[in-house]
Amino acid sequence: MNFKSEPAAIAGFLEDTSNLKNGWTPGVFFPETPEEIASLLRDAAAEGRRYTIAGNGTGTTGARIPFGDHVISMQKLDRIGEVEVAGDGRAMLRVQGGALLQDVQAKAAAAGWFYPPDPTEKTCFIGSTISNNSSGSRSLRYGPTRNHVQALTIALPQGDLLEIERGQHFADADGRFRLDLPIAGHVTFRRPDYAIPATSKHNAGYWSKPGMDLLDLFIGSEGTLGVIVEATLVLRPAPERVIACLAWFGSEEELLDFVRQARAGNGGVSPRALELFDRRALEFLRQRYSEIPAETAGAIYFEEESTADAEDACLEAWLGLMERYGSPVEKSWAALDSEGLQRLRDFRHQLPVLVNEWLSRQSESKVSTDMALPDERFAELFRLYRDACDREGFTYIIFGHIGNAHLHLNILPRNRKEFERAKKLYRQLVAKVLAMGGTLSAEHGIGKLKSEYLVQMYSKDGIMEMVRVKKALDPYLVLNIGNVIPVEYYQE
Ligand SMILES: Cc1cc2nc3c(=O)[nH]c(=O)nc-3n(C[C@H](O)[C@H](O)[C@H](O)COP(=O)(O)OP(=O)(O)OC[C@H]3O[C@@H](n4cnc5c(N)ncnc54)[C@H](O)[C@@H]3O)c2cc1C
Repeated sequence: MNFKSEPAAIAGFLEDTSNLKNGWTPGVFFPETPEEIASLLRDAAAEGRRYTIAGNGTGTTGARIPFGDHVISMQKLDRIGEVEVAGDGRAMLRVQGGALLQDVQAKAAAAGWFYPPDPTEKTCFIGSTISNNSSGSRSLRYGPTRNHVQALTIALPQGDLLEIERGQHFADADGRFRLDLPIAGHVTFRRPDYAIPATSKHNAGYWSKPGMDLLDLFIGSEGTLGVIVEATLVLRPAPERVIACLAWFGSEEELLDFVRQARAGNGGVSPRALELFDRRALEFLRQRYSEIPAETAGAIYFEEESTADAEDACLEAWLGLMERYGSPVEKSWAALDSEGLQRLRDFRHQLPVLVNEWLSRQSESKVSTDMALPDERFAELFRLYRDACDREGFTYIIFGHIGNAHLHLNILPRNRKEFERAKKLYRQLVAKVLAMGGTLSAEHGIGKLKSEYLVQMYSKDGIMEMVRVKKALDPYLVLNIGNVIPVEYYQE
């Protein structure tokens, strides 16, 4: 196994897309097998080492940035198996944790299948997307990564390699799991005793539901409970056709009404994605896309799966809905083939990229939200963000997964004073969204940047519930310390 400690070779492991600074590490290990990862963990406590797991660094929460810990890079565990169709007709794909999402999707597609999870950034590792329960625009129809994982091999913090399959280990009536492991021995713990919000996307803290599957505890635990070394993914049949379109709206009210109808399937539509670009987001994108129609109040990007036979009717249904809500059909950007679809998805992807580029030229970081409300409250979330930022006079954009009532607000401070005011507003917005039954993070996770707000969400008692689970599986606190759970809670 390779180990690197030269500054030039490890500099990339001290950053992700969060702008979190001052990370440092004595060095980075590059294991090539699950057993090598397990052996690093087995010896960690005796050698006085802690490890931070590194995916491909596209995370937004500083989660892979070490502060004094050694790093385990997943880079070399990148094997992708062959698509196998099970007796029940479901197709499965076995992959290692360091396989690139885009390679996994390509492998599935080459065999005529489809892997739905689509965090906009495709250069992430599959193990990270599982540990973050990532989702994206298609989650409106397919749900988050959790829904597409059949089995995992996990390197546990004491060095055991645990293989679990969905449907085999459930929490008992008391919420308790029991594991008998070669190294850790008999391990038993109860699922966290808190209720998770009723949002369709949620990735804030450990998953917990009555009778839950043990697999679901590891999915979304952000690498604090184990390293995902291999996974069996469930594939879907590839859709015959996909219709995609960017529809422009003259008023926010018409745009929100359009979303309401589309979500409800009125007019015969059945979207797999419904994404918002508010007016300010479009102004940002105009730097690269001058052809965006002037005087647009906002845009909705939608996708629907169809067949060759049903495609015309599907298009008709969408055009009818657009006309009803004042979206000029002749100006819309539609795509009926894979190249067109890619062009529109690139447009979607350019927004966070442009924002990140803009920020790297500023001295201040953005203040961004990843919160969601229960689905039907999407318009309230939009208005909450818009009104608050207008009141404060901030430069900001609102975009993202409006179909899941999950919008990203990015406040772009121009100086330190504005940054401090934006942070204050963020805290107020967190309180409001939580009071409305929402979640602190729908998809990006908590990492290091948002753990203080997780206390606001679950209170100290809830955090201590997570500490209890963490200490049962990681008694020597060797793995991804500083992520999700604020470190001071380990001393309690
Ligand atoms: C432009 C842009 C758009 C994005 N859009 C979305 C989006 O729409 N939806 C979404 O969900 N996310 C989105 N993201 C966030 C990001 O892509 C995901 O969080 C992704 O899962 C991170 O993958 P990574 O390999 O880069 O992980 P890293 O950033 O390297 O690590 C992320 C976390 O995963 C842990 N980890 C890595 N590998 C493992 C493993 N094998 N086992 C256990 N833990 C592990 C790390 O310790 C860390 O805590 C976006 C990011 C960017 C830059």
